[in-house]
Amino acid sequence: MSQQESKCPVSITKARLEFFYNDDSKNGMCSKCHPCKLGIYDAVKIFEAIQAGRGEEKHIALLRRIAEDVKDGGMCKKGKDHADILAAFLKDHAADLERHIKGVCTSRECAYLVRYEINPTLCTMCDKCREACKDFAIEGQKKEPYKTGFTPYRIRQRRCTHCGECVKVCPVGAVFIVEEQAVVGAGK
Ligand code: SF4
Ligand code: SF4
Ligand code: SF4
Repeated sequence: MSQQESKCPVSITKARLEFFYNDDSKNGMCSKCHPCKLGIYDAVKIFEAIQAGRGEEKHIALLRRIAEDVKDGGMCKKGKDHADILAAFLKDHAADLERHIKGVCTSRECAYLVRYEINPTLCTMCDKCREACKDFAIEGQKKEPYKTGFTPYRIRQRRCTHCGECVKVCPVGAVFIVEEQAVVGAGK
């Protein structure tokens, strides 16, 4: 999903900081001053940890301090502008950040904070998802005419790497995404 299409503030902010960090030194970060160079790098790594389900409460304070340090110690407008991006995210999306730290991406974009399931009432047993799954995480039997007793399609969660390919190939929209914490909270 591109940055333009994303609705998740965590994904969008991380992508903007990452782009600034990795872009060439003319348009992006020049790495001349430490608060900007180290701070933006650390912020990206913290966002990665949060998106991977390893978020901690202390990350909020760390991100806040990075925003302040880059704003104070950055020597150019580009650096300070990115400190502002981070500060605005912390101010405007505080609740969303808290939810991510608890393991919930309400936009259902952060791959490791969601899980994929198959709706058996929609599934036509066409086998397209199983063929597309490079991690062999889907089991089920393709429906054949005049035969009965097929194994229904299901996703083996331990094998699933959250790549999203099954969602793309399913012709009937039978693969759906749920928040991981919603499943855990429901005791499933
Ligand atoms: S604040 Fe400006 S000068 Fe300093 S490292 Fe960042 S981009 Fe370079
Ligand atoms: S999300 Fe990817 S790894 Fe998981 S079941 Fe679908 S295709 Fe397989
Ligand atoms: S691609 Fe969709 S309809 Fe086909 S087997 Fe998979 S879940 Fe069922």
